Amino acid sequence: MTLRPDFLILGQGLLGSLLALELQALGASVAIAEFAPRRCSSLVSAGMMDPISGQRFALSWRYEKTTADALSVYQNLSSLIGHPLITPRTIYRLFRDTIDSDTFHKKNTSGTLAPYITTLFNDSPHPDVAAPYGGVSIQGGYHIDVGQLIHSLRQHFIESNQLLLNPEPSFLENLPVKATIHCTGAYAHLSHHFSWLPFRNSRGETIIFDAPDFHTDAILNNGNWISPMKSGGYRAGATYAWDDLFHPPTETGYRAILAHIQSIIPGIKTQVTRTESGTRSIMPDSRPVIGQHPIHSTHWVASGLGSKGTQIAPFIASQLSKSIINNTPIDDEISINRFLKKYLTHA
Ligand SMILES: Cc1cc2nc3c(=O)[nH]c(=O)nc-3n(C[C@H](O)[C@H](O)[C@H](O)COP(=O)(O)OP(=O)(O)OC[C@H]3O[C@@H](n4cnc5c(N)ncnc54)[C@H](O)[C@@H]3O)c2cc1C
Repeated sequence: MTLRPDFLILGQGLLGSLLALELQALGASVAIAEFAPRRCSSLVSAGMMDPISGQRFALSWRYEKTTADALSVYQNLSSLIGHPLITPRTIYRLFRDTIDSDTFHKKNTSGTLAPYITTLFNDSPHPDVAAPYGGVSIQGGYHIDVGQLIHSLRQHFIESNQLLLNPEPSFLENLPVKATIHCTGAYAHLSHHFSWLPFRNSRGETIIFDAPDFHTDAILNNGNWISPMKSGGYRAGATYAWDDLFHPPTETGYRAILAHIQSIIPGIKTQVTRTESGTRSIMPDSRPVIGQHPIHSTHWVASGLGSKGTQIAPFIASQLSKSIINNTPIDDEISINRFLKKYLTHA
Protein backbone atom coordinates (compact mmCIF):
# COMPACT_ATOMS: atom_id res chain seq x y z
CA MET A 1 0.00 0.00 0.00
CA THR A 2 1.22 3.50 -0.73
CA LEU A 3 2.28 4.88 2.66
CA ARG A 4 0.41 8.10 2.20
CA PRO A 5 -2.86 7.45 0.36
CA ASP A 6 -4.92 10.58 -0.19
CA PHE A 7 -8.09 8.94 1.11
CA LEU A 8 -9.15 6.06 3.33
CA ILE A 9 -12.46 4.35 2.55
CA LEU A 10 -14.01 2.28 5.33
CA GLY A 11 -16.01 -0.64 3.89
CA GLN A 12 -15.52 -2.65 0.70
CA GLY A 13 -19.19 -3.19 -0.06
CA LEU A 14 -20.66 -2.05 -3.37
CA LEU A 15 -20.48 1.65 -2.56
CA GLY A 16 -16.96 1.64 -1.06
CA SER A 17 -15.67 -0.33 -4.05
CA LEU A 18 -17.24 1.98 -6.66
CA LEU A 19 -16.16 5.09 -4.78
CA ALA A 20 -12.55 3.88 -4.69
CA LEU A 21 -12.59 3.48 -8.49
CA GLU A 22 -14.20 6.91 -9.02
CA LEU A 23 -11.68 8.68 -6.76
CA GLN A 24 -8.82 6.97 -8.59
CA ALA A 25 -10.27 8.02 -11.92
CA LEU A 26 -10.06 11.61 -10.65
CA GLY A 27 -6.37 11.15 -9.86
CA ALA A 28 -6.48 10.38 -6.12
CA SER A 29 -4.77 7.50 -4.33
CA VAL A 30 -7.02 5.40 -2.10
CA ALA A 31 -6.71 2.75 0.62
CA ILE A 32 -9.74 0.67 1.61
CA ALA A 33 -10.23 -0.93 5.01
CA GLU A 34 -12.65 -3.82 5.40
CA PHE A 35 -13.64 -5.59 8.60
CA ALA A 36 -14.45 -8.90 6.96
CA PRO A 37 -16.21 -10.52 9.97
CA ARG A 38 -18.92 -7.87 9.64
CA ARG A 39 -21.90 -8.55 7.38
CA CYS A 40 -21.65 -6.97 3.94
CA SER A 41 -25.21 -6.41 2.74
CA SER A 42 -23.98 -6.16 -0.87
CA LEU A 43 -23.03 -9.85 -0.65
CA VAL A 44 -26.60 -10.90 0.19
CA SER A 45 -28.22 -8.46 -2.25
CA ALA A 46 -30.35 -10.02 -4.97
CA GLY A 47 -28.84 -7.41 -7.32
CA MET A 48 -32.23 -6.44 -8.73
CA MET A 49 -32.90 -3.07 -10.33
CA ASP A 50 -36.64 -2.61 -10.70
CA PRO A 51 -38.38 0.50 -12.01
CA ILE A 52 -41.56 -0.10 -9.96
CA SER A 53 -41.35 -1.41 -6.44
CA GLY A 54 -43.08 -1.86 -3.11
CA GLN A 55 -46.69 -2.36 -2.09
CA ARG A 56 -47.65 1.04 -3.49
CA PHE A 57 -46.17 0.42 -6.95
CA ALA A 58 -43.85 3.40 -6.52
CA LEU A 59 -41.56 4.47 -9.33
CA SER A 60 -37.98 4.03 -8.16
CA TRP A 61 -36.21 7.30 -7.37
CA ARG A 62 -34.74 8.86 -10.55
CA TYR A 63 -34.82 5.46 -12.20
CA GLU A 64 -34.00 6.56 -15.73
CA LYS A 65 -30.92 8.64 -14.89
CA THR A 66 -29.49 6.42 -12.16
CA THR A 67 -30.06 3.25 -14.21
CA ALA A 68 -28.34 4.73 -17.26
CA ASP A 69 -25.34 5.63 -15.04
CA ALA A 70 -25.41 2.19 -13.41
CA LEU A 71 -25.53 0.25 -16.68
CA SER A 72 -22.60 2.22 -18.09
CA VAL A 73 -20.51 1.60 -14.92
CA TYR A 74 -21.41 -2.12 -14.70
CA GLN A 75 -20.67 -2.55 -18.41
CA ASN A 76 -17.16 -1.10 -17.96
CA LEU A 77 -16.61 -3.22 -14.86
CA SER A 78 -17.70 -6.35 -16.73
CA SER A 79 -14.74 -5.72 -19.05
CA LEU A 80 -12.36 -4.95 -16.15
CA ILE A 81 -13.13 -8.15 -14.22
CA GLY A 82 -13.81 -10.36 -17.26
CA HIS A 83 -17.34 -11.37 -16.19
CA PRO A 84 -20.58 -10.12 -17.75
CA LEU A 85 -22.48 -8.54 -14.86
CA ILE A 86 -25.73 -7.31 -16.44
CA THR A 87 -28.79 -9.41 -17.30
CA PRO A 88 -31.99 -7.64 -18.42
CA ARG A 89 -34.96 -9.17 -16.59
CA THR A 90 -38.71 -9.06 -17.09
CA ILE A 91 -40.50 -8.75 -13.76
CA TYR A 92 -43.84 -10.48 -13.25
CA ARG A 93 -45.59 -8.53 -10.51
CA LEU A 94 -48.26 -10.95 -9.32
CA PHE A 95 -51.19 -9.35 -7.52
CA ARG A 96 -51.60 -10.75 -4.02
CA ASP A 97 -55.31 -10.08 -3.70
CA THR A 98 -57.99 -7.70 -4.98
CA ILE A 99 -56.71 -4.84 -2.81
CA ASP A 100 -53.24 -5.19 -4.34
CA SER A 101 -54.75 -5.27 -7.82
CA ASP A 102 -56.91 -2.18 -7.10
CA THR A 103 -53.86 -0.31 -5.78
CA PHE A 104 -52.04 -0.99 -9.04
CA HIS A 105 -54.97 0.05 -11.25
CA LYS A 106 -55.45 3.32 -9.34
CA LYS A 107 -51.75 4.10 -9.55
CA ASN A 108 -51.67 3.20 -13.23
CA THR A 109 -54.32 5.80 -14.15
CA SER A 110 -51.75 8.59 -13.67
CA GLY A 111 -49.76 7.28 -16.68
CA THR A 112 -46.39 7.50 -14.90
CA LEU A 113 -45.93 3.72 -14.85
CA ALA A 114 -46.78 3.34 -18.55
CA PRO A 115 -43.20 3.28 -19.93
CA TYR A 116 -42.49 0.17 -17.87
CA ILE A 117 -45.75 -1.78 -18.18
CA THR A 118 -45.92 -4.23 -21.08
CA THR A 119 -48.86 -6.54 -20.34
CA LEU A 120 -51.64 -6.94 -17.84
CA PHE A 121 -52.52 -10.59 -17.40
CA ASN A 122 -55.45 -12.39 -15.80
CA ASP A 123 -53.98 -15.86 -16.19
CA SER A 124 -50.56 -16.80 -14.97
CA PRO A 125 -47.70 -16.03 -17.39
CA HIS A 126 -46.05 -19.37 -16.48
CA PRO A 127 -47.70 -22.78 -15.93
CA ASP A 128 -45.95 -23.31 -12.55
CA VAL A 129 -46.48 -19.80 -11.20
CA ALA A 130 -49.56 -18.96 -9.09
CA ALA A 131 -51.33 -15.77 -10.14
CA PRO A 132 -54.94 -16.15 -8.91
CA TYR A 133 -55.49 -12.36 -9.01
CA GLY A 134 -53.60 -11.73 -12.25
CA GLY A 135 -50.68 -9.38 -12.51
CA VAL A 136 -48.58 -7.17 -14.67
CA SER A 137 -45.40 -7.58 -16.72
CA ILE A 138 -42.79 -4.93 -16.04
CA GLN A 139 -39.93 -4.18 -18.43
CA GLY A 140 -36.75 -2.17 -17.82
CA GLY A 141 -35.58 -4.31 -14.90
CA TYR A 142 -32.10 -5.82 -14.56
CA HIS A 143 -30.14 -8.27 -12.50
CA ILE A 144 -26.57 -7.33 -11.65
CA ASP A 145 -24.18 -9.97 -10.36
CA VAL A 146 -23.16 -7.89 -7.34
CA GLY A 147 -21.60 -10.81 -5.44
CA GLN A 148 -19.26 -11.59 -8.34
CA LEU A 149 -18.39 -7.90 -8.65
CA ILE A 150 -17.49 -7.50 -4.96
CA HIS A 151 -15.37 -10.67 -4.93
CA SER A 152 -13.53 -9.72 -8.14
CA LEU A 153 -12.91 -6.16 -6.96
CA ARG A 154 -11.64 -7.49 -3.63
CA GLN A 155 -9.05 -9.47 -5.56
CA HIS A 156 -8.26 -6.42 -7.70
CA PHE A 157 -7.74 -4.22 -4.60
CA ILE A 158 -5.59 -6.90 -2.95
CA GLU A 159 -3.40 -7.17 -6.06
CA SER A 160 -3.04 -3.39 -6.26
CA ASN A 161 -2.04 -3.41 -2.59
CA GLN A 162 -4.89 -1.11 -1.60
CA LEU A 163 -6.98 -3.31 0.69
CA LEU A 164 -6.42 -3.46 4.43
CA LEU A 165 -8.24 -6.54 5.74
CA ASN A 166 -9.11 -6.40 9.44
CA PRO A 167 -6.59 -3.67 10.29
CA GLU A 168 -5.93 -2.50 13.84
CA PRO A 169 -8.19 0.52 14.53
CA SER A 170 -5.18 2.40 15.96
CA PHE A 171 -3.32 1.88 12.65
CA LEU A 172 -6.24 3.44 10.74
CA GLU A 173 -6.53 6.36 13.16
CA ASN A 174 -2.88 7.24 12.59
CA LEU A 175 -2.96 6.88 8.81
CA PRO A 176 -2.13 10.37 7.48
CA VAL A 177 -4.98 10.86 4.99
CA LYS A 178 -6.80 13.94 3.72
CA ALA A 179 -10.16 12.36 4.57
CA THR A 180 -11.83 9.15 5.71
CA ILE A 181 -15.03 8.14 3.95
CA HIS A 182 -17.41 5.86 5.86
CA CYS A 183 -19.01 3.50 3.32
CA THR A 184 -19.96 1.09 6.06
CA GLY A 185 -23.62 0.56 5.16
CA ALA A 186 -25.77 -0.11 8.23
CA TYR A 187 -22.66 -0.04 10.45
CA ALA A 188 -22.40 3.73 9.99
CA HIS A 189 -25.04 3.78 12.69
CA LEU A 190 -22.43 2.41 15.16
CA SER A 191 -19.78 4.93 14.20
CA HIS A 192 -18.82 7.53 16.74
CA HIS A 193 -18.91 10.18 13.98
CA PHE A 194 -22.28 9.37 12.41
CA SER A 195 -24.42 7.63 15.04
CA TRP A 196 -26.52 10.83 15.36
CA LEU A 197 -27.99 10.30 11.88
CA PRO A 198 -31.61 9.02 12.08
CA PHE A 199 -31.03 5.51 10.70
CA ARG A 200 -34.07 3.21 10.36
CA ASN A 201 -32.03 0.14 9.44
CA SER A 202 -33.68 -3.20 8.83
CA ARG A 203 -32.35 -6.74 8.70
CA GLY A 204 -33.32 -8.97 5.80
CA GLU A 205 -32.94 -12.70 5.22
CA THR A 206 -32.86 -14.60 1.94
CA ILE A 207 -32.79 -18.23 0.87
CA ILE A 208 -30.76 -19.61 -2.04
CA PHE A 209 -32.37 -22.69 -3.56
CA ASP A 210 -32.35 -25.05 -6.50
CA ALA A 211 -35.53 -26.15 -8.24
CA PRO A 212 -34.48 -28.59 -11.00
CA ASP A 213 -38.06 -28.94 -12.33
CA PHE A 214 -38.70 -25.21 -12.60
CA HIS A 215 -37.31 -22.77 -15.17
CA THR A 216 -37.79 -19.05 -15.59
CA ASP A 217 -35.63 -16.08 -16.57
CA ALA A 218 -38.07 -13.62 -15.03
CA ILE A 219 -38.16 -12.14 -11.55
CA LEU A 220 -41.38 -13.24 -9.82
CA ASN A 221 -42.75 -10.84 -7.26
CA ASN A 222 -45.97 -10.95 -5.24
CA GLY A 223 -44.64 -8.64 -2.54
CA ASN A 224 -42.00 -11.26 -1.87
CA TRP A 225 -39.75 -12.30 -4.72
CA ILE A 226 -37.93 -15.14 -6.43
CA SER A 227 -35.02 -14.06 -8.59
CA PRO A 228 -33.01 -16.32 -10.95
CA MET A 229 -29.29 -16.22 -10.14
CA LYS A 230 -26.56 -15.87 -12.73
CA SER A 231 -24.78 -18.92 -11.35
CA GLY A 232 -27.94 -21.08 -11.53
CA GLY A 233 -30.63 -21.63 -8.92
CA TYR A 234 -32.76 -18.93 -7.36
CA ARG A 235 -32.67 -16.44 -4.53
CA ALA A 236 -35.89 -15.70 -2.60
CA GLY A 237 -36.72 -13.12 0.00
CA ALA A 238 -36.77 -11.01 1.80
CA THR A 239 -37.79 -10.55 5.40
CA TYR A 240 -37.80 -7.24 7.29
CA ALA A 241 -36.86 -7.01 10.99
CA TRP A 242 -35.99 -3.97 13.03
CA ASP A 243 -34.42 -5.56 16.09
CA ASP A 244 -31.27 -7.67 16.44
CA LEU A 245 -29.96 -5.89 13.36
CA PHE A 246 -26.83 -7.96 12.78
CA HIS A 247 -28.23 -11.37 13.71
CA PRO A 248 -27.44 -14.36 11.46
CA PRO A 249 -30.32 -16.11 9.61
CA THR A 250 -33.11 -17.37 11.86
CA GLU A 251 -35.48 -20.34 11.78
CA THR A 252 -38.43 -17.89 11.70
CA GLY A 253 -37.01 -16.10 8.66
CA TYR A 254 -36.33 -19.41 6.93
CA ARG A 255 -39.90 -20.64 7.45
CA ALA A 256 -41.40 -17.32 6.33
CA ILE A 257 -39.41 -17.33 3.07
CA LEU A 258 -40.21 -21.00 2.37
CA ALA A 259 -43.90 -20.06 2.69
CA HIS A 260 -43.36 -17.15 0.26
CA ILE A 261 -41.72 -19.48 -2.26
CA GLN A 262 -44.64 -21.89 -2.00
CA SER A 263 -47.12 -19.03 -2.50
CA ILE A 264 -45.42 -18.20 -5.82
CA ILE A 265 -44.50 -21.67 -7.16
CA PRO A 266 -46.75 -24.08 -5.26
CA GLY A 267 -45.98 -27.73 -5.84
CA ILE A 268 -42.43 -27.15 -7.09
CA LYS A 269 -39.77 -29.14 -5.24
CA THR A 270 -37.01 -26.95 -3.83
CA GLN A 271 -33.61 -27.77 -2.34
CA VAL A 272 -32.33 -25.01 -0.10
CA THR A 273 -28.58 -24.59 -0.44
CA ARG A 274 -28.05 -21.73 2.02
CA THR A 275 -29.65 -18.94 4.00
CA GLU A 276 -28.22 -15.45 4.36
CA SER A 277 -28.85 -12.35 6.38
CA GLY A 278 -27.87 -8.71 5.84
CA THR A 279 -28.79 -5.27 7.09
CA ARG A 280 -30.20 -2.48 4.92
CA SER A 281 -29.11 1.02 5.80
CA ILE A 282 -32.23 3.21 5.61
CA MET A 283 -32.98 6.89 6.20
CA PRO A 284 -36.49 8.05 7.23
CA ASP A 285 -37.11 9.60 3.79
CA SER A 286 -35.70 6.53 1.98
CA ARG A 287 -32.96 8.58 0.32
CA PRO A 288 -29.22 7.97 0.66
CA VAL A 289 -27.21 10.21 2.96
CA ILE A 290 -23.90 11.53 1.70
CA GLY A 291 -21.58 14.33 2.75
CA GLN A 292 -19.13 15.74 5.22
CA HIS A 293 -19.44 15.63 9.01
CA PRO A 294 -20.71 19.05 10.19
CA ILE A 295 -17.66 19.61 12.45
CA HIS A 296 -15.08 16.89 11.78
CA SER A 297 -14.63 17.85 8.15
CA THR A 298 -12.11 15.09 7.36
CA HIS A 299 -14.86 12.52 7.87
CA TRP A 300 -17.44 11.83 5.17
CA VAL A 301 -20.33 9.39 5.07
CA ALA A 302 -22.09 7.58 2.22
CA SER A 303 -24.86 5.30 3.42
CA GLY A 304 -28.66 4.84 3.42
CA LEU A 305 -28.93 3.01 0.10
CA GLY A 306 -31.91 0.99 1.40
CA SER A 307 -33.03 -1.70 -1.05
CA LYS A 308 -31.79 0.28 -4.06
CA GLY A 309 -28.02 0.06 -3.76
CA THR A 310 -27.51 -1.71 -7.08
CA GLN A 311 -29.34 1.03 -8.95
CA ILE A 312 -28.03 4.09 -7.12
CA ALA A 313 -24.53 3.24 -5.86
CA PRO A 314 -22.83 4.22 -9.18
CA PHE A 315 -24.63 7.60 -9.20
CA ILE A 316 -23.78 8.20 -5.51
CA ALA A 317 -20.12 7.23 -5.98
CA SER A 318 -19.85 9.65 -8.89
CA GLN A 319 -21.50 12.57 -7.02
CA LEU A 320 -19.48 11.98 -3.89
CA SER A 321 -16.09 11.66 -5.60
CA LYS A 322 -16.66 14.96 -7.46
CA SER A 323 -17.69 16.65 -4.25
CA ILE A 324 -14.60 15.37 -2.39
CA ILE A 325 -12.11 16.24 -5.14
CA ASN A 326 -13.67 19.23 -6.90
CA ASN A 327 -15.89 20.57 -4.14
CA THR A 328 -19.01 20.33 -6.34
CA PRO A 329 -22.26 20.64 -4.37
CA ILE A 330 -24.18 17.52 -3.39
CA ASP A 331 -27.79 17.18 -4.46
CA ASP A 332 -30.02 18.53 -1.62
CA GLU A 333 -32.21 15.41 -1.66
CA ILE A 334 -29.34 13.16 -0.62
CA SER A 335 -27.09 15.57 1.26
CA ILE A 336 -26.25 15.05 4.92
CA ASN A 337 -27.19 18.71 5.39
CA ARG A 338 -30.88 17.82 5.50
CA PHE A 339 -30.20 16.29 8.95
CA LEU A 340 -28.17 19.17 10.42
CA LYS A 341 -30.91 19.96 12.94
CA LYS A 342 -30.56 16.39 14.26
CA TYR A 343 -26.86 16.98 14.77
CA LEU A 344 -27.44 20.23 16.63
CA THR A 345 -30.07 18.62 18.90
CA HIS A 346 -27.78 15.67 19.54
CA ALA A 347 -24.61 17.74 20.16
C1 LIG B 1 -31.78 -9.42 2.00
C2 LIG B 1 -31.39 -8.23 1.19
C3 LIG B 1 -31.67 -8.20 -0.17
C4 LIG B 1 -31.33 -7.09 -0.94
N1 LIG B 1 -31.61 -7.08 -2.27
C5 LIG B 1 -31.33 -5.99 -3.00
C6 LIG B 1 -31.61 -5.93 -4.40
O1 LIG B 1 -32.13 -6.88 -4.98
N2 LIG B 1 -31.30 -4.80 -5.08
C7 LIG B 1 -30.70 -3.73 -4.48
O2 LIG B 1 -30.44 -2.73 -5.14
N3 LIG B 1 -30.41 -3.75 -3.16
C8 LIG B 1 -30.70 -4.85 -2.41
N4 LIG B 1 -30.38 -4.87 -1.10
C9 LIG B 1 -29.73 -3.69 -0.51
C10 LIG B 1 -28.24 -3.63 -0.86
O3 LIG B 1 -27.60 -4.73 -0.26
C11 LIG B 1 -27.65 -2.32 -0.36
O4 LIG B 1 -28.39 -1.21 -0.81
C12 LIG B 1 -26.21 -2.08 -0.83
O5 LIG B 1 -25.57 -3.25 -1.25
C13 LIG B 1 -25.43 -1.43 0.30
O6 LIG B 1 -24.08 -1.28 -0.08
P1 LIG B 1 -23.07 -0.52 0.86
O7 LIG B 1 -21.76 -0.60 0.20
O8 LIG B 1 -23.63 0.81 1.24
O9 LIG B 1 -23.08 -1.39 2.25
P2 LIG B 1 -22.53 -2.86 2.52
O10 LIG B 1 -22.63 -3.69 1.32
O11 LIG B 1 -23.19 -3.35 3.76
O12 LIG B 1 -20.99 -2.64 2.80
C14 LIG B 1 -20.51 -2.09 4.00
C15 LIG B 1 -19.17 -2.75 4.29
O13 LIG B 1 -18.54 -2.05 5.36
C16 LIG B 1 -17.86 -3.00 6.17
N5 LIG B 1 -17.62 -2.34 7.46
C17 LIG B 1 -18.51 -2.10 8.46
N6 LIG B 1 -17.94 -1.38 9.43
C18 LIG B 1 -16.67 -1.14 9.04
C19 LIG B 1 -15.59 -0.40 9.63
N7 LIG B 1 -15.70 0.24 10.79
N8 LIG B 1 -14.42 -0.33 8.94
C20 LIG B 1 -14.28 -0.96 7.73
N9 LIG B 1 -15.28 -1.67 7.14
C21 LIG B 1 -16.45 -1.74 7.80
C22 LIG B 1 -18.79 -4.19 6.19
O14 LIG B 1 -18.09 -5.37 6.51
C23 LIG B 1 -19.29 -4.20 4.74
O15 LIG B 1 -18.47 -5.00 3.92
C24 LIG B 1 -30.69 -5.98 -0.31
C25 LIG B 1 -30.39 -6.03 1.05
C26 LIG B 1 -30.73 -7.13 1.80
C27 LIG B 1 -30.39 -7.16 3.27
